[in-house]
Amino acid sequence: MKFGGASIADGKKIKWVAELVNRYREHEIIVVTSALKDVTDSLLYRADVVADSGKIESVHELIEYLRNLHRTAAKIAISDEMVLGSVLNELDNQLHGLELALAGICHLGELTTRSRDYISSYGELLAAPILSGAMRSIGMPSVQFTGAEAGIITNSKYGEAKPLEDVHDRIRQKLLPLIGRCVPVVTGFVGEDESGIVTTLGRGGSDFSASLIGAAVHADEIWFWKEVSGIMTADPKIVPDARNIPIISYAEVMELSYFGAKVLHPRAIEPAIRDNIPVRVLNTFDPDFAGTLVVGGQEQGKEVVKSVTVIENTALINVSGAGMVGTIGVAARVFGVLAKAGVNITMISQGSSEANISIVVEESHLNSAVDAIKSEFKNGMIRELTRDSDVSSIAVVGCGMAGTPGVAARVFTAMGDANVNVIMISQGSSEHNISFVVRRADAEGAVRALHSEFGLGD
Ligand code: ASP
Ligand code: MG
Repeated sequence: MKFGGASIADGKKIKWVAELVNRYREHEIIVVTSALKDVTDSLLYRADVVADSGKIESVHELIEYLRNLHRTAAKIAISDEMVLGSVLNELDNQLHGLELALAGICHLGELTTRSRDYISSYGELLAAPILSGAMRSIGMPSVQFTGAEAGIITNSKYGEAKPLEDVHDRIRQKLLPLIGRCVPVVTGFVGEDESGIVTTLGRGGSDFSASLIGAAVHADEIWFWKEVSGIMTADPKIVPDARNIPIISYAEVMELSYFGAKVLHPRAIEPAIRDNIPVRVLNTFDPDFAGTLVVGGQEQGKEVVKSVTVIENTALINVSGAGMVGTIGVAARVFGVLAKAGVNITMISQGSSEANISIVVEESHLNSAVDAIKSEFKNGMIRELTRDSDVSSIAVVGCGMAGTPGVAARVFTAMGDANVNVIMISQGSSEHNISFVVRRADAEGAVRALHSEFGLGD
């Protein structure tokens, strides 16, 4: 079971989470925790401030803020005095370590990627003792572990470290002897390299930690407790009658998350997919609701379309010129320079005339994308480079579309009926999604029209 920051935002919620885990105490459980809500952000933000300003007061301010936040949470979450005492002690120890590190950064005025990992790991390091203590306080045997203590050893790519090949064995060695005897509470997001330097698995990485551990111990299921009711047919802010999707495939979840449904990051469930372990997305604050079950295979349900998503802030770049026709390597150069410029491409389309390539990027990357392409093609092969930042991308997702004729016709007829102009279209040959670009002002209407066309609502 993995709990996200919003699920353990304060003492009351942590207490609730401990009681929730207790409901399942007849099962063998491992808990993975993330940091208290917003703590990772504050740590990273303040570390920058400290390094830039060199003001030691900002170190003290941050430490006192975190001390207060976590002590208050512990006092509310833990009623057993003995347990509370030891947890408060542990918090003080951790905060002392953090303070020393920040003071060093303050004096040096330098924040390396290695120190960023060290600093940001404290969110989880401070959360785990409180959650584990809250469980002990209601009579569940529990022990807290850092990622490394639980066997998560990584390479040294700070900020996005990858687990070593033998990580499953390491995790099994550390955790299997304990399962069933106590509930280990493991810090998500955090690992260590082979020389014992703290690493992190990338922002949002505690989902990944949970999948990794679940896969290593061959869990029956991996449960992600979030503050949403599973995965939805559409964003309920856009479509009021959007509903929960009870069962969905790994492939569909991956498609959805590429298109802005931020519930599960594809990378996060990759270890679960590889070992075919079912994943559940549950709501911490509505635990009796079945949530969404994510499984392998495509035999989940008869609906052709599962969900409709939109990425509001996208931009479209169109590269055209007769010089491109039949010339080999143009696309490679375009994508190459965009990659070098750190631009994330979300959709691509090229007609068979080869006279133009359309590329969709995140809006924030538009300027660097255009500059990069311009400087790569100074020789006239590209005649025109147009940009349009007033667009949104829409994706209709469902594995049942593969091999089912007529889905595209329904999608685009619905757009025509809703008077929405379609600017660009792309469908991968996996046929798991149809995506297209519309004017931003049309995006929400388009999502509603598609949601109702495919009968996804209540
Ligand atoms: N606390 C980390 C973050 O905010 C990891 C996580 O929450 O999954 O990125
Ligand atoms: Mg978080």
